[in-house]
Amino acid sequence: MVDYQEILDEIHESLTNVKDKGEVAGYIPELANVPKEKFGIHLQLITGENYSVGDASEKLSIQSISKVLSLAKAFQLVGTNLWKRMDVEPSGNPFNHLSLLEMENGIPRNPLINSGAIVVADVLLSNLENPKDDFLNFVRQLAHDDTISFNETVAESERLTGYNNYAAANLLKSYGNLENDVDDVLDFYFYQCSIMMDCKQLTNAFYVFANKGRCIHDQEHLTASQVKRINAIMLTCGFYDEAGEFAFEVGLPGKSGVGGGIVALLPQCFTIATWSPGLNPQGNSYLGMQALEQFTTKTKLSIF
Ligand code: GLU
Repeated sequence: MVDYQEILDEIHESLTNVKDKGEVAGYIPELANVPKEKFGIHLQLITGENYSVGDASEKLSIQSISKVLSLAKAFQLVGTNLWKRMDVEPSGNPFNHLSLLEMENGIPRNPLINSGAIVVADVLLSNLENPKDDFLNFVRQLAHDDTISFNETVAESERLTGYNNYAAANLLKSYGNLENDVDDVLDFYFYQCSIMMDCKQLTNAFYVFANKGRCIHDQEHLTASQVKRINAIMLTCGFYDEAGEFAFEVGLPGKSGVGGGIVALLPQCFTIATWSPGLNPQGNSYLGMQALEQFTTKTKLSIF
């Protein structure tokens, strides 16, 4: 029998005292205030057992992790029409890079970089009656948790400094790849990024991707085929320009955010979330990546 709690405890202990914890994201002022010492891990097996260590029940700003959830909702709503407006190739560039978007005529490389997620936000705006409420309800249903909410202070903080996202959205609009107004699309996008969840809630919300489209309450939200494709996109595009490194070190589909969270999963086996706000130069949680590398090495559980 694998002792998962012992493994999480060992990983936590080996990394807590590491001096270099990376740098907290400074370009969204509200995120720069989060203490770098925070560090938590939560593991949920597909069979329902849960294991936690450290600050796993403290809320973090999920930021780009929300891009997988908005993608899931858009895929559910418009199906394969989504791929007319964006590609599914890794970008090999930072999450907010603009030159590829211009070279490729306003078709984002994939839905997990900012330009792609902004197009996904536009799809949700066009297809949901009350976009913010309906999207939040979708996330709450996936996680089976009505306490999950937006953080308006974080959304506002990002709106005031979101020059790069305004540039991307204007470029998309100029190529005819946004149906709605730039301000409305970005307002939705900043809100989706501002959702707060703890590591346990993240493993709950991502259970659907480990369970062929059925959430922790066994309700079907996505088809097995849609989940297969979303997991493929997470594996190849989920870690900025470090997706290859994450596949190499960890070997799981997943997604990170500049709030320092990472969620990863092994289909039919588990979902795991880590949180440590210090980021490496590519924007991925410095300790989180190391913790997940240790986890899949120690347990020998990865897709490879
Ligand atoms: N809201 C952030 C941005 O658009 C998300 C970045 C991230 O987590 O990768 O810059």
